[in-house]
Amino acid sequence: MIVFDRVSKSYGSMTVLNDINLEIATGEVISLIGPSGSGKSTLLRCVNHLERIERGSITVDGELIGYRRVGNLAHELPEKLVARQRAGIGMVFQNFNLFGHKTALENVIEAPVHVRGLARRDAEAQATALLERVGLADKMQSYPRMLSGGQQQRVAIARALAMKPKVLLFDEPTSALDPELVGEVLDVMRSLAAEGLTMMVVTHEMSFAREVCNRIAFMQAGEIVECGAPSEIFDKPAFQRTRSFLSKVH
Ligand code: ATP
Ligand code: MG
Repeated sequence: MIVFDRVSKSYGSMTVLNDINLEIATGEVISLIGPSGSGKSTLLRCVNHLERIERGSITVDGELIGYRRVGNLAHELPEKLVARQRAGIGMVFQNFNLFGHKTALENVIEAPVHVRGLARRDAEAQATALLERVGLADKMQSYPRMLSGGQQQRVAIARALAMKPKVLLFDEPTSALDPELVGEVLDVMRSLAAEGLTMMVVTHEMSFAREVCNRIAFMQAGEIVECGAPSEIFDKPAFQRTRSFLSKVH
C-alpha cells in the first residue's frame, strides 16, 4: 500500500505538488492523468525519492520513503538506504533507459546480481522466465539497438520485475512508441495488473486507463482535482476542469 499524506513540493517559488493525499491499496492499479506540467511525473518520482518532498510523507507498505523521523523532524536517509528502498520500487520510463551495451538478458540480470547479490545462474533463470513472460523468448541475446521500441520497453518491464518490486511505477511507458507498437506494451501491463501488481501509471492511453485501472486521479497544477473509478471520472466528472481536460484528449 502506498500512502501520500499531505505531500508538497516546490521548485523555487513554484509549487509543483500541493498537499497531495492519496492512498493506493495493494494490488490496485491507478492512472494519473492531467495536462502537461500538472505534476504527474514529479509525484511518481517522489515515490522512489528521485525527488525530495518538502512537506508531508510517503509510505510504501508502512515504510517512510526517503526520510527517517527523529522526534518531530524528518532527516533524509543516507543514500545507501534510499538505494535499498528504490530496489523495491520498479520504475519504467518513456525512453526505456536500457543499458545499450548489454543484451536483453544482461539488462534483466544486472540489478538482481549487483544490487541483490543473486547468484548469476539463478538470476539468468529468473530473467529467462521474465523475458518469456513479456514475449521475448527469442530476443534474450539481442542488444537494445536490435530491438523495436515496443520490445525495448518490454525488456525494461522485465528488468523492473526482476527485482520483485512491491510497486511498479510507469511514466508514459508508451508515449515514445510508434502507434502499432503501443498495444504489445499495454498487453503486458494489462497482464501484470491482472496478476495483482500494485501499479501507478501516468498515461495518455485513455482506453487503457478506463479498462485496466481501478481508479483514475486527475491532476492539475500540482493538485489531485478528483480521483475515482474510471466510470466516475470519464462519464460523470465532478469538476469542470476535469471535463475540459477530457474533452481535449478524447
Ligand atoms: P508532462 O505531461 O509534460 O510530462 P507532468 O505532469 O509530468 O507533465 P512534471 O514533469 O511533474 O509534470 O512537472 C511539474 C512542474 O514542475 C512543471 O511546471 C515543470 O516545469 C516543473 N519541473 C519539473 N522538474 C523540474 C526541475 N527539475 N526544476 C524546475 N522545475 C521543474
Ligand atoms: Mg511527465
